[in-house]
Amino acid sequence: MNLDQINIPRKLVPDNYLQLGLAAQRSKQRTFKELIEKRKLPETGWSDEQIEELVLQLASLDSNNFPHKVGLGEREARIACKLVARRHYNFGHGIGRSGDLLEAQPKAAGSTLLSRLTNALILDLVRGIGLPSCADCFLVPMCTGMSLTLCLQSLRKRRPAAQYVLWSRIDQKSCFKAITAAGLNPVIIPCRVNEEALYTDINLFREKVELLGVENILCLYTTTSCFAPRNSDDIVEISKLAKQKQIPHLVNNAYGLQVKIIVRQLERANQIGRIDYFVQSSDKNLLVPVGGAIVGSFNKSQLHEVASSYAGRASGSQSLDVFMTLLSLGRNGFQSLIQQRAENFIYLRDSLRKFAESHGEVVIDSSYNSISLAITLGTISPDEDDVTQLGSMLHMRGVSGARVVVPWQTKTIDGHEFVGFGSHRNDLKVPYLTVASALGITREEIDKFFDIFGRCWHQLVKIKMKA
Ligand SMILES: *Cc1c(COP(=O)(O)O)cnc(C)c1O
Repeated sequence: MNLDQINIPRKLVPDNYLQLGLAAQRSKQRTFKELIEKRKLPETGWSDEQIEELVLQLASLDSNNFPHKVGLGEREARIACKLVARRHYNFGHGIGRSGDLLEAQPKAAGSTLLSRLTNALILDLVRGIGLPSCADCFLVPMCTGMSLTLCLQSLRKRRPAAQYVLWSRIDQKSCFKAITAAGLNPVIIPCRVNEEALYTDINLFREKVELLGVENILCLYTTTSCFAPRNSDDIVEISKLAKQKQIPHLVNNAYGLQVKIIVRQLERANQIGRIDYFVQSSDKNLLVPVGGAIVGSFNKSQLHEVASSYAGRASGSQSLDVFMTLLSLGRNGFQSLIQQRAENFIYLRDSLRKFAESHGEVVIDSSYNSISLAITLGTISPDEDDVTQLGSMLHMRGVSGARVVVPWQTKTIDGHEFVGFGSHRNDLKVPYLTVASALGITREEIDKFFDIFGRCWHQLVKIKMKA
């Protein structure tokens, strides 16, 4: 309600009191006006109350919240449980129209506005952190893997005869399943191993392109953020190849938005080569619950092809989560999260190196990975069970996300066998443990980890000596 436009009688409230209150209201209205007109991320975050007020105002623009509503359609955003309605701030219509995520929803002006504002804020954020050439991006209410599938499916419309996706191996199931879910044939390009660290095998990419023929290849598919000791793919070189051969290039940037070097590489790769789409998780990069991904492109109309490949009307929940989070953080809040993460990575790396040194192990030098680190577990025991036990000991003591990787684990995904699954290679010899410094991690968590890690290590070694 805009009290400014109501003539409030003086006998209800003295005018000087009222003017003070109205001035405060006006300043808030100006913030709303600026957000909607400029569609830029605020520098400093908003208060929860302010965010809530705007969100409720937007929801009141949707037909399900009209006081005079008369719904005779089959989808009227009726919500049976009040708790559910409240959880969604009375939004119920979702976003887009069946078959296009970016289209306006006639019954829901508020949801449409919310979704478009969210996409605009994400774009402003993405450009601001080092991707000024990003033409557009949008939030997809599906996980990263399914959003990659959506990109592949829209590429397929452009190149209907192409069946192969050349994929630099990364042992993360959803990356791979994204290809098979699109009904395409993955061509696995193993990484090049150098002193236990893994690098993109550019030459093998080139060879496969020649061997299979450009017209049969749907795209080159790389990954920036991954578990060490695999490095970020050399997206600059792959982009050059993509441009030279005129083959689309899809980048899985799962948690890469939080890393300056990766963001810079994306910008550079696009400038001297070719990237069609880059896809990142909203939960990993923006600290919201799991469920969304952001698809970005350097070409606006190409991006729209992806949005219009979506079959159905979409959930608006993820847009709401991201909208509220971005307003709450503001540009400064996000920047300081990025900064803290980078500092904590150095702290984690240095502490891990010290630990390795005093325990006869090494931290594998994967210098093109600035999120995840791998420490060898060569001295604990030759027995694989002891090594895996370390993983469960850590887990039982509340450490999550630390992964123990042992040689010769085999996994079959959709009919494709991966030898050494988890290690991104066939011939791992020494087991290792990975840990990551991801957005939101605190120094206290790192300190606690080393405390627990040290105790588990000694316990294991003691058990081994008794036996
Ligand atoms: C998290 C992650 C994904 C995607 O996970 P979703 O569950 O599909 O969001 C894909 N690739 C990598 C490297 C990841 O880390």
